[in-house]
Amino acid sequence: MEKLPPFTPTSIDDIPQIHKHGVDKFHSHTTRSIDYRRKQLRALYWGLKDEEPALLEACKLDLGKSAYETYLTELGWVLNDIIFMSKNLARFAKDEKAEDISLTNSFMKPRIKKDPLGAVLIIGAYNFPLQLSLGPLIGAIAAGCTAVLKPSENAPNAARIMQHVISHNLDPEAYQVVQGAVPETTALLDCKWDKIFYTGNASVGKIISKKAAETLTPVALELGGRNPAIITKNAEPRLAARRLLWAKLMNVGQVCVSQNYILVDKEILPEFLRQLELALTEFQPKGAEGNEDYGKIATERQWQRLKGMLDSTTGKILMGGKTVKESLFFEPTVVQVETPDDPLLKDESFGPLIPILPVDDIEEAIRIANRVHATPLGLYPFGTKTETDKILSQTRSGGASVNDAFFHASIPTLAFGGVGDSGQGSYRGKASFDCFTHRRSVTTTPSWIESMLDVRYPPYTPEKMKKL
Ligand code: NAD
Repeated sequence: MEKLPPFTPTSIDDIPQIHKHGVDKFHSHTTRSIDYRRKQLRALYWGLKDEEPALLEACKLDLGKSAYETYLTELGWVLNDIIFMSKNLARFAKDEKAEDISLTNSFMKPRIKKDPLGAVLIIGAYNFPLQLSLGPLIGAIAAGCTAVLKPSENAPNAARIMQHVISHNLDPEAYQVVQGAVPETTALLDCKWDKIFYTGNASVGKIISKKAAETLTPVALELGGRNPAIITKNAEPRLAARRLLWAKLMNVGQVCVSQNYILVDKEILPEFLRQLELALTEFQPKGAEGNEDYGKIATERQWQRLKGMLDSTTGKILMGGKTVKESLFFEPTVVQVETPDDPLLKDESFGPLIPILPVDDIEEAIRIANRVHATPLGLYPFGTKTETDKILSQTRSGGASVNDAFFHASIPTLAFGGVGDSGQGSYRGKASFDCFTHRRSVTTTPSWIESMLDVRYPPYTPEKMKKL
C-alpha cells in the first residue's frame, strides 16, 4: 500500500476544469452506450479486486475495521452491487411502454426512455467510506452519467485507494475523484451539476440543498438517524438484546441506521438488561478493549463529541463507559435514561452509546418515538406481529426492520433512503439506476395517422365537436 500515492487534496484551481471534463465527456455521448457502461462497471469490479488487500488495510487504518467487517459491509457489498447492476442493466435501461392506453394512442408508441441525468457529483461520508462512495457511483455509471466523486477526508486512506482504483481502471475523462474537505467541496458546489448525491449529516445537507437550489439542481440527500428501537412486553429479550447489540458493535456504532435509543416496556426491562449483559460477554469475551475486531471512533473531533454526549446525560451508566482519547477507543456503553429529553435521545450519537428508556406500554413508546424525531432513517420494533404492525402503522421512517436492527438496509434490491429530515431520494439495486436517470416521456406520431388527427386542428366546427 505504501507504493500508492498519499492523500493529497485536489487543487481548488483545478476544480472548474475537472467539472468541465465531466460535462464535455457527457456531451460526447460516449457514456450512453450500454456496452460502455458495462465495461466501466467491469473495470471497477476488477480494479477493486486488484486492490482488495489495500482497501481492507485502508479501512483498518481509518476506522479500525476488521477485514471481516470491511468485506461484509463494504467491499463484498460493493462487488455484489456491481454484479447485480451489470446483470440487470439492459433490463433497467430498456424503454418502458405506457400502461392502459387507447388504440389510437398506441399508434404513437408512448414510452418512457431512460435518459442519463448528465454530469453528477457524489459526496461520500467516512463511516462506510467504500460503500457510501462507490454505491452511488455504480448507479451513476449504470445510468450513463459522468461523475466526480468526492470521498470523505475523514477516511483518507480509503479515499486515496479509491482514487487509485478509479483513475487506473475507469475512463479518466468520465469518472474523476476530487480529494479534500470543506474548501474543495465548496468549490465543487460552485459548479453546475445535473445532480448532487450527498451522504452525511443534516447540517451540511442543508448547505448542499441551498447551494443546489440556486441552480435548480436536483439532490439526493442521505442524512442522519436518531432511530428508535421499540421492545414490547411480548418481545423475545435474548433475541432483541443480541440483535440490537450487534448493531452497535458494528463499526463502533458509526452506522446511520443503527438504533440511537431503545424504548423498553418496563415489564420486560430487567430480563432485557440481563440478556444485554450476557450478549456483551458472549460477543466480546475479553471485553471491547481486548477485541481486535472492535474498531475505533474515526476522528478526535467525533470522539470528543461522543464523550461530550456521554458526560451530558443525566442517566445511569449500567455497562461500559470506558473511553481512551489517545486510541479513540469508546466502549459499548449502556445508559438507563429517565426522560425523552435526555441528550442521548435527542441527539444522534453515531457511536456505541446504548441509551434505554423504560416505558409503560406500546402507546407510550409510539408517542415518544414520534415526539423525539418524527421521521427517522430507520425504526426497529420488536414484539408480536400485531404489536409491530401497530408500531409501523403509527410511525414514519425511511425504512424499518421488524424484530431486527437495520436488516432492511442490507437487502441489495431494496431501495434505501430517508424520509423528511432523514433524507430524500433513494438508491441501491434498481433505485441506484433510477436515482441518476431521467424518465423521459416520448411519443412518435406516424405520418399515416394524419387523417385521424384532423379532429384536433382548428377551426373547431360543430361537426368536430360531435366526434369527440
Ligand atoms: P463526513 O465528516 O464524512 O462528511 C460528509 C461529507 O460532507 C464529506 O465528504 C465532507 O467533506 C462533506 N462536508 C463536510 N462539511 C461540509 C461543508 N461545510 N460543505 C460541503 N461539504 C461538507 O461525515 P458526517 O457528515 O459527519 O457523517 C455522519 C452523519 O452522516 C451522521 O448523521 C450519519 O447518520 C449520516 N449518514 C447517513 C447515511 C445515510 O445513508 N443516510 C450514511 C452514513 C452517514
